[in-house]
Amino acid sequence: MTKPCNCIAEVNKTLAQHNTMLVFTLFGTPSRVIVDTTQVETGRGKKKAAAMIATFCPFCGERYEPEPARPATSADLTAMLDDPTVAAAVNEQAGGRAA
Ligand SMILES: [Zn+2]
Repeated sequence: MTKPCNCIAEVNKTLAQHNTMLVFTLFGTPSRVIVDTTQVETGRGKKKAAAMIATFCPFCGERYEPEPARPATSADLTAMLDDPTVAAAVNEQAGGRAA
């Protein structure tokens, strides 16, 4: 995993001159910027505003956490088998029975 960026700390240093700081997550590593949201309709039974936590750093564009793994699609598997070294390894695993 790559080292997370230091943008939140750097931006907060600049904002400190304006008595301001970013809102960011306190739990989890790395800390992530929280996008400010507000409740549209207020009153009894109305849903509270949802939190929006950035996936990518809004300052440098780095992804905060590695992209989650996803299952291979049949297109991925076909592409893998088109690779001669992979096809040879699969043949070996099958005891050379596959033609
Ligand atoms: Zn950053």
